[in-house]
Amino acid sequence: MSERPHRIVVVGGGAGGLELVTRLGNRLGKRGKALVTLIDRRRTHLWKPLLHEIAAGSMDLGTHEIDYLAQAYWHGFTFRLGALIGIDRGQRLVRVAPYFDAEGRQVTPAREFAYDTLVIAIGSLTNDFATRGVKTHAIALETADEAERFHTRLVNACIRAHSQAEPLRPEQLQVAIIGAGATGTELAAELHKTTRQLVAYGLDRIDPDKDIKIHLIEAAPRILPALPERLSEAAAKLLEQLKVRIHTNAPVTEVAANGVTLADGTLIPAELVVWAAGIKAPDLLKDIAGLETNALNQLVVRPTLQTTRDDAIFAFGDCAACPWLGHEGNVPPRGQAAHQQASHLAKQIPRRIAGMPVKKWRYRDFGSLVSLGHYTTVGNLMGKLVGGSLFIEGMIAGLMYKSLYKMHQLALHGVTKVTLDTIARLITRRTEPVVKLH
Ligand SMILES: Cc1cc2nc3c(=O)[nH]c(=O)nc-3n(C[C@H](O)[C@H](O)[C@H](O)COP(=O)(O)OP(=O)(O)OC[C@H]3O[C@@H](n4cnc5c(N)ncnc54)[C@H](O)[C@@H]3O)c2cc1C
Repeated sequence: MSERPHRIVVVGGGAGGLELVTRLGNRLGKRGKALVTLIDRRRTHLWKPLLHEIAAGSMDLGTHEIDYLAQAYWHGFTFRLGALIGIDRGQRLVRVAPYFDAEGRQVTPAREFAYDTLVIAIGSLTNDFATRGVKTHAIALETADEAERFHTRLVNACIRAHSQAEPLRPEQLQVAIIGAGATGTELAAELHKTTRQLVAYGLDRIDPDKDIKIHLIEAAPRILPALPERLSEAAAKLLEQLKVRIHTNAPVTEVAANGVTLADGTLIPAELVVWAAGIKAPDLLKDIAGLETNALNQLVVRPTLQTTRDDAIFAFGDCAACPWLGHEGNVPPRGQAAHQQASHLAKQIPRRIAGMPVKKWRYRDFGSLVSLGHYTTVGNLMGKLVGGSLFIEGMIAGLMYKSLYKMHQLALHGVTKVTLDTIARLITRRTEPVVKLH
């Protein structure tokens, strides 16, 4: 056995990657049994399912961001800043681009990092299916910066509408959300609440019921098409009560500055457009270093989460196409799956280092929960405990929805810190902003 500790490099510190390096750092890095390195193109982590709340303004980004450098210091791994641009499988190196700050000054040069085990966990981007105008006129909720950009546009649109002398233009204060999966549906409900709160801060020339319109546009025959029909019906009923305009069987053919055109020629006026339809892995993964990828650029992996052509390279989370054992197709791109895969790899990578075989991973679907702002949460529980699939709604569903984020926090900070933080929040009544204004 070589003297040098095994080098584990994880690229992407998202819902899955940050949990993995934290566990591996605690278990191996702190004891000098391996060198664990995280590479990410950003300096901070935000759990992606919170993005729609940042966009709507009901959550403060600063309270929920985690600094990779600090997390690395406390949990026995090293953090290196920069975007992955290539892999040299022969020399077992990853290539990382130089990093520039917002003012264009170079912070880090182009670098290479050697690995013995490489894990790719760089997530996904929204898939615009090459629809005209999306890149120029729509915002995708992919990063915290984009969620904040949407929020700033929303606040400015309300202030502009309040202060102008002339009547509103047709598209003014209309929001079109394209894609009625969980992200789009949750955003529609959240926006209904926060726009009203924003107006209540003194923008009294705006009548929310008359002036603010939220459109939820979906190509499939119903909203939440990937989830059970009952769940989708319950969500649609609530959104209709909130006067969110639902357009189903409505594929979008073009996004322009003043609205969205549907395949049947209908124009939906909107000054704010969010694209939340479909995902794909980043283009850089397409055939990277001769590894197998699918049409969505995802790295094809075996049930052990090892890539099909290289045992030393693992991939998981949204950027991996992993077979769903016992089902047709692949594991869905969900935080729940990334969390389970991270826990599995945290046990299997030490086995690989010890020369033992890597065990297969099996996805356990616990169901789906969709939060409809402060109005309600709907979902279905799956599993043996409930005897198949059980529809849930209301407070219990809401508590379970929050528990997904708690599980992520527990994996990152441990039970003691999360418990103390929860108690401190209760005592000091530290809550989220009603609606953020900046
Ligand atoms: C608005 C929204 C709501 C959602 N709600 C839910 C939900 O309620 N329940 C659920 O189960 N799932 C939900 N999801 C899906 C869930 O967020 C993803 O499935 C999950 O985040 C995937 O985890 P990941 O680790 O694969 O990728 P991510 O969490 O996306 O992390 C990827 C990381 O890789 C980094 N990265 C990207 N490219 C590079 C590069 N070239 N070099 C270096 N680093 C790179 C990124 O900065 C990021 O830190 C939601 C997603 C969104 C957008």
